[in-house]
Parts: sequence; C-alpha cells; structure tokens
Amino acid sequence: MRFSQLFAPTTKEIPKDAVLKSHRFMVQGGFIQQMGSGLYHFLPLGHKVLSKIRGVIKEVMDSYGAQECTLGFVVPASLWQESGRFEQYGKELLSFLDRKNNPCVLSPTHEEPITEIIKAHIKSYKQLPLNLYQTHTKFRDEIRPRFGLMRAREFVMKDAYSFHASTECLDREFERMHAAYSEIFIKLGLDFRAVEADSGAIGGSKSKEFVVLAECGEDSVFVCQQCNYAANVEIAKRAKRTEPDNVPKARFAKFHTPNTPTIEALSAFFKVPPYFLMKAVIKKARLHEGTRPVVFFLRGDDQLEGTKALNAFNKSAQQNALELEEMSVQEITELGLPVGYIGAYGVKNLVPDIEVIFDVDLQEADCLICGANELDAHFVGVDLSTFANLNYQDIAQTRPEDTCPECQGPLSEKRSIEVGHIFKLGNKYSKSMEARYLDQEGRLQYFEMGCYGIGVSRLMSAILEQNSDKKGCVWSKASAPFEVVVIVANSKDSALEALGTAIYEELKGAKIDVLLDDRLDRFGAKMADFELIGCSYALIIGKQALEGQIELIARQGLGKRVIARETIVPTLLEALT
Ligand code: ATP
Ligand code: MG
Repeated sequence: MRFSQLFAPTTKEIPKDAVLKSHRFMVQGGFIQQMGSGLYHFLPLGHKVLSKIRGVIKEVMDSYGAQECTLGFVVPASLWQESGRFEQYGKELLSFLDRKNNPCVLSPTHEEPITEIIKAHIKSYKQLPLNLYQTHTKFRDEIRPRFGLMRAREFVMKDAYSFHASTECLDREFERMHAAYSEIFIKLGLDFRAVEADSGAIGGSKSKEFVVLAECGEDSVFVCQQCNYAANVEIAKRAKRTEPDNVPKARFAKFHTPNTPTIEALSAFFKVPPYFLMKAVIKKARLHEGTRPVVFFLRGDDQLEGTKALNAFNKSAQQNALELEEMSVQEITELGLPVGYIGAYGVKNLVPDIEVIFDVDLQEADCLICGANELDAHFVGVDLSTFANLNYQDIAQTRPEDTCPECQGPLSEKRSIEVGHIFKLGNKYSKSMEARYLDQEGRLQYFEMGCYGIGVSRLMSAILEQNSDKKGCVWSKASAPFEVVVIVANSKDSALEALGTAIYEELKGAKIDVLLDDRLDRFGAKMADFELIGCSYALIIGKQALEGQIELIARQGLGKRVIARETIVPTLLEALT
C-alpha cells in the first residue's frame, strides 16, 4: 500500500470526549470515526487492525475444532421470549417492530438463535460435541457508552457456543477454550489474567474472565501475590479474617446505647473495634412481581458487595432477581425496623417475609455487638455459634488488606479490562427452549452448553491501553496495521524515491505487510504519522540510505539501529516473528 493512496484521515485535533489514550489515538490516527453515542465506523486502518485480530482468533479457534459461521443479527423477539430473557435482559436489549408488527431484537448475544439451530438439527448424542463460533456485530444499548471502542453500543464480538451430551464433556471443552483463549491473548501480545468471575445475566454455573491489567480499566480484580488465585472483585473470596486484639468479652445482655446509630458512634461508645460490631444492611430485591426485603449482616468494617449480595439472595430465596435496590429510611421504618439499631434477634418476627443473610466471616463468631431491634439499644456478648441453621454466605467486599482464600498470601487489587469471558451454561437454555437429543439409551436429554466470548473491537482499545506511549499507537506485532513503513525522507528526490520503491517491492515479495510513505510531505510529518499510527517498524530512506545504510526504528520504545541494505529482509523477517 502506498500512503499517498491510503484513506487515513489523521488529525492533530484531540477529540473532546476522549478520556483514554486508546480512544484519542484511534480517532487521531484515522482508525475509527464516531457516528453517534457508542456508534463507530471502522475506517481502512481500523478495519485492518480488526481483521488482523479476527485472523488471530480464527486461527486458534479453528485449530481447536470450532467451526465458524455467521448468525443473523436481527432476531425475532419470540426466541428471546421462549428463553425468558426478553423481559429479563433489561434496557440493553434494543427491540423494535418490523413492518408486519413482529417484535425483533438486535442481538446483544446469541444463545437463543444458536440453541434453535442445534435443536432443529442435532438429534443424537452421536452428533455431539459441537462448537460453533462467529465474529460479528453485537448491539447493547449501554447506559453509559464511553471510552471509544471500549464500551460501545454497536461492537464486534467473537462468540462461540458448544453443545455436549455430558457435563464431563462440557468441562473438557471449557478447559480447552481456556487454553485457546490463553493462546489468542499471548499471540496478541497482551499481559492478561484469567480470573474467577460472576456469570451475570447470561446465567450458568461457572465462568472465567480474561482480563488485561490496565489503569484505565472499568473493572477491578484481586490477584494473589503468592499463588495463582485471581478473581473479579464481584466474587473475590478471602481467607477468614484474623481477630484483632481488644476482644469485647461480655455476657449476653441488652445495653442502653443512646445516639449510636452508626458503626463509628457505636465503636466509640463501647471502645471496641468495628470488627466486633455486626451491622445490618437492608435492601429490597426487585422480583418479577413486586419486591422483597433482605437484611444482610456483616462485620462493622466490611462493606456489602453488590453482585455477591444479589447472588446470595437469589440462591437462598430461590429467586431470579436482577437487582437489589436501596431502601429509604422511611421504607425501613415502615417495615417496623429501627434504623441504626437493627439486629438479628427477632427480625423475622418483625418482618416475616424478610430474607436474612449473614456474611460467611461471621460464622461461629462470638463476642459480637448487634442492634436489639429497638431504639437506643444493642445486645452485647452475642455468640452466633449458639444458633443453628443461620444462612451464611459470602457477601462482603474483599479488601486490599485481606488475604488469599487459597494460600493466605497477600492480595493486590488491580484495575482491569475484560476482554473475554467463558461460561458453563449447563442446560439453562436447552431447558427453557426444549432443546433435546437422544442419549445412548434412547432417552431424551437436554443439551449441556458452554459459551465463550471475546470483545474483538474492545481488544483494539485494550492493546493500545497496555502498549501506547505519549506519541501515539503502539500495537502488538500481530495487530499493527502494517508491519513496516518505508519512509522516503524526501519524495521529491528521485533517487530516494526509487530506492524506497525498490525496498518496498522487495518487502512485499517477502510477504511482509508494508506501507510506502511516498507522500510529498515533510520528513517530520511522516515520522509523526508513523508514531501516531504505529506500524511495528519504520525504515528511513534518507541520504545515508543511498550509501547502503538504512535506519530501522522499532515503534515499541522507538529504538534505532542502522542495518545494511542487503540485510533488510532477513532482519525484518526475524524481528517480526
Ligand atoms: P461488561 O462487564 O464489560 O459489560 P459483559 O460481561 O457484559 O462485559 P459478555 O456478555 O461476557 O460481556 O460479552 C463478551 C465480551 O464482549 C466481553 O468480555 C467484552 O470484552 C465484550 N463487550 C461486552 N460489552 C461490550 C461493549 N459495550 N463494548 C465493547 N465490547 C463489549
Ligand atoms: Mg455488559
């Protein structure tokens, strides 16, 4: 490709809404163009990078026996109604009526259509297992689209779906996809981690996220400094906390505790660390019809983790709530509970339909202080081990000072970008959509399913966030828009132009993806574009080059060296592997 013919509308102007360097450089480098909120065009350079990333993913997925297909983007809402997700998915699902008044959705994910395909064609265990994937457009009407391609509304995802006749077979495929994803992200040159994760609205039993560690990440993960444990904060566990000194040993008794509605006030009143105070957090779960109150009990210096709390509620109440909502002081008071003095004793008598959940760190805990469910009163000397059948679940946020649940090593909290997510779905979709096959004994069984996503367009942002410098894009070798740019320092000089063209042809012949900067612009401007766009290497065709000495610049680190004319091809072939 000749730069003089390339459509790459680069600009010095910094896009106003660009907070992240990846967003800024992709717009300034002419890779993408915004059309609306969370809606982007991929211009030739952006398209090229996206295709290279797609290519890496395809190569690996194919080598693992997954088969590529392209599923329809517009899906009849009836399929989503069948699975029950039409109501459940929420506002990210964009739906509309077609001219015949049939409701349709723009696919945010493709479990329903793929299940329907398999249901229609796979009748016997002999046709299993099967793994189908696509790399295609998705639409999610995100509440806060931002950061360019990082959180767009229309974006490109690689989504794979596997079907199995046993959970063992699904387990094996899950591990194989884990390995495939690791290969993909290594090939793309990313520093990534596979972390335990929540399954969210997609559902299912087990899931792992692949995250790229970067300061700008919207997510947080806890990583053990000593072993392999890594988990999204939404589900990160921790070792049992160590008890501080100052244990408030006391007999069980009710205490008059005026003006102590907060943990701080109560801690000061008793001169006791908040660790020994049991606080109550009241929420209401939004159900299909109406709401239901929940009280979560935690140590005074712990915070409720929203995702853990929601999962704990759904598990113990056997519900499918999508959200836990705040309760106002007035609402709590109307339930008959004294805000600031709520405790575990008799709470069910006061509010019969309340769900009561204790944090797992309180298991067997004694010497606690908790509200007495009456104004200005607390119980001291509370020993939870004297109660049978309390509902303990992991509901507290893991804190940086907590330790690893596996090895007790120190944890560190890091910002991260989710680039992939693999799930064991089990038979959630096959059951709701009645998708069955005949097993070896001729019995009808529901398919076991897995699904495996990669944010292909988000990967462009992630790669740049991890690698770029102040001057512009630094892509990994596998994702750079061109491997090499041959920069003719002065294109008006016919000798330089001829040499540049000869080298360009030579590199093309060696199957190197090369750009020839043959524009009549100043050398400085050409260099600035190389730094902004981020081809992996630049060869400088200046005066020195006519004597057989060519300057080679690596975009990563901008290190320079001079190589002999004859060694260009082997040097680059080696550098690019
Ligand atoms: P997030 O928590 O970031 O919203 P998710 O859990 O909703 O992600 P999945 O449903 O697992 O995402 O989708 C698979 C992959 O698609 C994600 O790992 C992510 O890389 C990518 N992805 C999801 N939402 C977006 C988006 N709005 N823009 C770009 N990529 C996205
Ligand atoms: Mg999402």
